[in-house]
Amino acid sequence: MSERWVIHLPVVVNDVVSAQRLARVVAHWIHVLPQTEPGGTTVSPEDDQNVRHWVFCDRLLPGGVRCLLRPDHDGECSRRFRLR
Ligand SMILES: [Zn+2]
Repeated sequence: MSERWVIHLPVVVNDVVSAQRLARVVAHWIHVLPQTEPGGTTVSPEDDQNVRHWVFCDRLLPGGVRCLLRPDHDGECSRRFRLR
C-alpha cells in the first residue's frame, strides 16, 4: 500500500476559480507541515472528484523550487504568493 494519502476537505464556494483561490490560501498555511506537498494541490467538484483542477503552476524555478502562482498565470513564474 502507498504511503501517500490525500485529505479531502470540502469547502463551499461559487466556482472553480474561487475553489482554486481558497485552496492556494489553505496550501500556503499548511506548508509548515512537512508531511504535506502543497504544490500537488488540486480541486474538484464534490460530485465529480475524478475531475481535478491544479491550484499552482508548479513549474520548477532556478534552485529547484516551485512556482507558487496559479496554473495559467501571466508573466514570469514566482515564489511570491499572490492572492487573486
Ligand atoms: Zn509559474
